[in-house]
Amino acid sequence: METKKIAIVGAGISGLVACKYTLSKGLHPIVFESQTGIGGVWTKTVETTKLQTPRPAYQFSDFPWPDSVTEDYPHAHQVLEYVESYARHFDLLKHIKFGTRVLSIGYDGPPGEVMQSWSLWGSDGRPFGSGRKWKIRVQDCLSLETETYEVHFVILCVGRFSGVPNIPEFPPNRGPEAFHGKVIHSMDYAAMDYQAAREFVRGKRVVVVGLQKSALDIAMECSAVNGVERPCTVLYKTEHWSMPDYHPWGVPLGFLYLNRFAELLVHKPREGLLLSLLAMLLLPLRWAMSKFIEIDIKRKLPLKKFGMVPKHGFLQEISSCTITKVPEKFYDRAEEGSIILKKAPAFTFWKNGISIDGEVKPLNSDLVILATGFRGKKKLIDVFESQLFQDCLSGSPNSIVPLYRGCINPWIPQLAVIGFSESIMNLHTSEMRCKWLAELLAGTFKLPPIKKMEEDIEEWDKYIKRYSGEYYRRSCIGALHIWYCDQLCRDMGWNPKRKKGFFAELFEPYGPTDYVSP
Ligand SMILES: Cc1cc2nc3c(=O)[nH]c(=O)nc-3n(C[C@H](O)[C@H](O)[C@H](O)COP(=O)(O)OP(=O)(O)OC[C@H]3O[C@@H](n4cnc5c(N)ncnc54)[C@H](O)[C@@H]3O)c2cc1C
Repeated sequence: METKKIAIVGAGISGLVACKYTLSKGLHPIVFESQTGIGGVWTKTVETTKLQTPRPAYQFSDFPWPDSVTEDYPHAHQVLEYVESYARHFDLLKHIKFGTRVLSIGYDGPPGEVMQSWSLWGSDGRPFGSGRKWKIRVQDCLSLETETYEVHFVILCVGRFSGVPNIPEFPPNRGPEAFHGKVIHSMDYAAMDYQAAREFVRGKRVVVVGLQKSALDIAMECSAVNGVERPCTVLYKTEHWSMPDYHPWGVPLGFLYLNRFAELLVHKPREGLLLSLLAMLLLPLRWAMSKFIEIDIKRKLPLKKFGMVPKHGFLQEISSCTITKVPEKFYDRAEEGSIILKKAPAFTFWKNGISIDGEVKPLNSDLVILATGFRGKKKLIDVFESQLFQDCLSGSPNSIVPLYRGCINPWIPQLAVIGFSESIMNLHTSEMRCKWLAELLAGTFKLPPIKKMEEDIEEWDKYIKRYSGEYYRRSCIGALHIWYCDQLCRDMGWNPKRKKGFFAELFEPYGPTDYVSP
């Protein structure tokens, strides 16, 4: 029988685990990575970036952090070292083609109308179809020479938080072109050496746009360089529940949101009548738990003083994967005046800075850093040659990116996506998905008919909309990680109950080490 070749695009965490688990099934993966090293987003971050997920929740199930790393939230370079040692330990580097960008992928299959009439994924529901192949067009990043590979299956691990910056749109002549200062995206700032970044912001009136992790880190760095003489202004649209720590009132957050009991408090996709009734009855407790955390954050951080109390609840924050850990002493900097927090639902540029809608006085500035995130979906869909596949993966504008179990688009055969749908512990989620995918490729289980997969995607879409509300971001399994992993376990024939004893099963937080082996 012909050896099955797998193309994996990207050697970040998702690509590495995809490589490890496909190898474990005797398949032949080849990983294409445009950079010269592994680790994806961890290869280049701003100087002060640390892991936000507590270390035990951000680890490979079969490869613990080394004893030398004792920090609860290791620095980005420690994360990178850990990921590199994982790749060396499992001998993955020899499967990676570095400095090789995948330009496009094309499926050598029947016409679109035929594929759209299939009731089973890839016509027969099997991962390798009937001998059809994908053509992978790659470019050597140095010589610019191109080459085409033929493979039986593709795993896209291109990441969501890099590559294509999300730049807000402005009316004509009111965007960055009107400004006489400099406008960069946070990824340009992160690409500089630490020293160069410090010199770049020194003495400048900096405005950072955004309130997510990168925005907060960059504001801290600017304020450290420029102090109160040249304060850094953080311009944000919406207040968020950024956490000072993950121990509200001394209780580890995992006991409040990452155990089975916590999941009983929320409605779940495809839940039965009993679970639905329970979630309804426990609604007051759900509300109380959210308040319990919100009050703790408000007592630890001066949110009220700075007008930073969010209007939505904490459950909404965690359900939409927008939760961040506020850098230490961030509000001390706001108190001393080296960071200024300013709400700006909409703004435009003028020659000397920024004009906030509804405010008469413009904000003078020399440098604007847009920490406005990335257009991860665009990066993902642009890799397809076929417009049909691009449309299939885009889905409808008001629903999540259609991926069954967060991995498989029902209409795109012989292909999986890992690392697009988010969680609050992404390494663990990518690893679980790769274990699941490897079992699918090995034939341990089959996918249900396309119709059933569509229904399942719809159910998840409803759940995400219900709990993320207006902060609905596409594709995030948020507060339902255990429920989600249960589904993967059942597919693989694993027992989803991973703890010993009734109370442990109900109240102990779940994490990567619960899923070491079947
Ligand atoms: C600053 C920062 C902090 C974060 N902190 C946390 C955290 O604390 N906890 C958490 O759970 N998550 C965190 N995340 C999310 C993080 O993205 C994931 O945890 C994880 O590292 C993503 O890995 P990935 O492999 O899916 O994607 P990436 O790390 O983005 O890797 C994708 C790889 O694909 C390569 N690639 C892309 N396109 C192509 C192409 N066409 N051809 C060849 N190669 C290509 C890229 O070069 C890259 O190496 C953070 C993200 C950022 C940016």
